[in-house]
Amino acid sequence: MDHLGLDDFTRSIHYISNTIQENKGYLTKLDSFIGDGDHGSTIARGFTKVVEKIRKDKPESIAELLKDTGFTLVTSMGGASGPLFGTFFTEMSKEAEGKDVIGLRDFYAMISNALAKISRLGGAKPGDKTMIDSLGPAVKSLGVSLDKGQGIDRALKNMSIASKRGAASTKDMIAKKGRSRYHGKRSIGYQDAGATTIYLIINAIYKSISQKGKNEKINK
Ligand code: ADP
Ligand code: MG
Repeated sequence: MDHLGLDDFTRSIHYISNTIQENKGYLTKLDSFIGDGDHGSTIARGFTKVVEKIRKDKPESIAELLKDTGFTLVTSMGGASGPLFGTFFTEMSKEAEGKDVIGLRDFYAMISNALAKISRLGGAKPGDKTMIDSLGPAVKSLGVSLDKGQGIDRALKNMSIASKRGAASTKDMIAKKGRSRYHGKRSIGYQDAGATTIYLIINAIYKSISQKGKNEKINK
């Protein structure tokens, strides 16, 4: 597989939504240790609305699909993280504008854009114990894969592994942004909820694309 099309991205959005619903309790638990315990329910609500929206609108391009997803997350999630998760998709959408298919180089540009915009918007740096800490390593890994000339499957797999490690690494960090920063050093020992969600999203993209057609539950 050299390119990703609208079908691939549509399958990814459904897969992400299912993954988020399945992990809702876990994400809320993570957010309750050092946050206000709403993350699982807000992100799950957001993706329920996303699926409703795309079922109704039936986007005709990758850019439109990602834009619909981002806008719906912003409007339905609210809070501090809604605009940040929404930005992840709306920024990817901008780079996908006018493209029927997405190659690895395009995907790298899309996800790099998302990281840059989220960093600007939220002001978090690597090591601040936020979603940046699982998104940053994913982007970096994709860049390495591109340089090495790896195929999309392999690149997405490596991206997922890097993101998982990044999410796990937040356990040892002191929170500097968001509500968890109020816990200071007491935030050590807990994995960041938002970083975990970004990993789940990235892993879902990898799984939905590499296991094309194998997951019958995707459209449940
Ligand atoms: P809220 O803090 O409004 O309750 P959520 O619980 O939905 O929002 O999300 C919390 C997550 O948002 C955190 O775990 C962290 O990953 C992410 N986050 C919070 N502030 C920032 C920021 N400034 N930059 C990047 N990510 C952030
Ligand atoms: Mg919260």
